Amino acid sequence: MPSLLNLFLKPKCPLCDRSTAKIICIDCDRQISACKSPIFRQNREEINLFAWGVYDSSLKQAIATYKFKNHPELAQPLGIKIAEAWNQDAVAQTLIKQSPNIKVVPIPMHPEKLKSRGFNQAELLAKYFCQYTELAIAPKILQRVKNTKPQIETKSKQEREDNLNSAFTVGNQFRNKSISVILFDDIYTTGATIKEAIATLKSVNIQAIAVVVLATPKFEIQSQIQRSPFYA
Ligand SMILES: [Zn+2]
Repeated sequence: MPSLLNLFLKPKCPLCDRSTAKIICIDCDRQISACKSPIFRQNREEINLFAWGVYDSSLKQAIATYKFKNHPELAQPLGIKIAEAWNQDAVAQTLIKQSPNIKVVPIPMHPEKLKSRGFNQAELLAKYFCQYTELAIAPKILQRVKNTKPQIETKSKQEREDNLNSAFTVGNQFRNKSISVILFDDIYTTGATIKEAIATLKSVNIQAIAVVVLATPKFEIQSQIQRSPFYA
């Protein structure tokens, strides 16, 4: 007979509401795993991008639940997925060997936005990613000084560029210290935010040698596959 106590103690999967032993239930985890990208490492307009999954279906839903329905606990299983792909990628491992003091820098959130959401989704994912890759996280290197609107709400290319212009700054103590970093975000779409962050870092001699994200839209991946001789 189910007791009242059990009813309260059994955790529920935030994605399907069924009871689960882990944070995400087996079914939802399987569906999210099906969104794993066939290629983890991609070259995107000179950006060395590592993207775990395709921003679609179950993964898109999981990210929305994580960010907008206040489920920060999803950062752990999602962050671990990215870390597992990273740990298995030969190029990623070479990169780390070449830059042993590299720091992982999550894309920062403006303090006002952080106040309303309660957590920075990129930073929390990066925290678990770093735990499982044993990389150092440095969330204070890059700061967001402008409360930008979501890029999706901008109407023209000019407005998109203006929106992000001078959005970031680097703390004085980190400037011109020859630091190499890995930028970390939840989603890579147009790349505008990442490019602005890279430019800001570069202006104070900090080199972003890689970008790691949880997801990127499918059309981008398809064009990569078409360009790659391995998928011809
Ligand atoms: Zn579930």
